[in-house]
Amino acid sequence: MKSSDFLAFLNQKQTLVLDGATGTNLQKRGLPVGTAPETWLFENPEAISNLYSDFVQAGSDIILTCTFGGNRIRLAHANLTEKLSEVNQTAVQLAKTVTVGTDVLVAGSLGPTGEMMQPFGTLSEDEVFDIYQQQTKVLIAAGVDLLVIETQFDLNEAQAAVRAVRSLDADIALVCSFSYDRGVRTMMGVKPAQVAEIFNNLTVDAIGINCGKSLEDNLSVLRTLKEGTSKPIWFKPNAGMPTANDDGSMSYDVSPDMMGENAKLWITEGARLVGGCCGTSPEHLAAISKVVKGK
Ligand SMILES: [Zn+2]
Repeated sequence: MKSSDFLAFLNQKQTLVLDGATGTNLQKRGLPVGTAPETWLFENPEAISNLYSDFVQAGSDIILTCTFGGNRIRLAHANLTEKLSEVNQTAVQLAKTVTVGTDVLVAGSLGPTGEMMQPFGTLSEDEVFDIYQQQTKVLIAAGVDLLVIETQFDLNEAQAAVRAVRSLDADIALVCSFSYDRGVRTMMGVKPAQVAEIFNNLTVDAIGINCGKSLEDNLSVLRTLKEGTSKPIWFKPNAGMPTANDDGSMSYDVSPDMMGENAKLWITEGARLVGGCCGTSPEHLAAISKVVKGK
């Protein structure tokens, strides 16, 4: 889908409903903690389809593919190095099967490489570009409607990712989203005002905030980002703060009803595409959707 068509779709609907978490929901459905969700594309594809389907039923206008870790560095940790194409193709196919006959869009998820760039790590800018380009090529060929570079924390990596997508397709709809893991700054100390300053001038259709810490912190980031940009804002916060369970999985402290109450505020504060990250179940998503769509 071209950027112009995506923005027209957004303007027509005014506010779009995103989806909820992939990892934490699959863990609730039996994915062992520490196992990459992408392994279930082959071992338990029904669970992934069912989750997509639950989000669509709950009101999602856009669902993200199970490809957050679908780049060659993360796949190596999951022993899926040889299956990069298959991982990304399979995830898109599963999502498209669930959304066929609806106007729900399939967004190709591109997570961080999993390693730091120089000078903090070993990856050069060229390598980062190449890693994103390799994954994006498969996602586009498999037919995603848009691409979402998400959970970013490093301005240089995120910009290299945007360049990689644009090297393959100058027109496809594209979102770039940062995770403010330290509250109102990313893990690397990046502030939303800096993100706005740089990404206002890049060919991205929306600037995002996802994951991060508490709802209060994410709301504060939303307010600052809104002051710095006129681009649509993608807002996908965690369902509050996690506490660890005995099996190592996490529980999140915001209930579906509270998530819905908060979603009203997100929209008032300028978020145009709203959903949730870690801890956001289909029930949470339904509460968000009810606020957006009134049903
Ligand atoms: Zn998250």
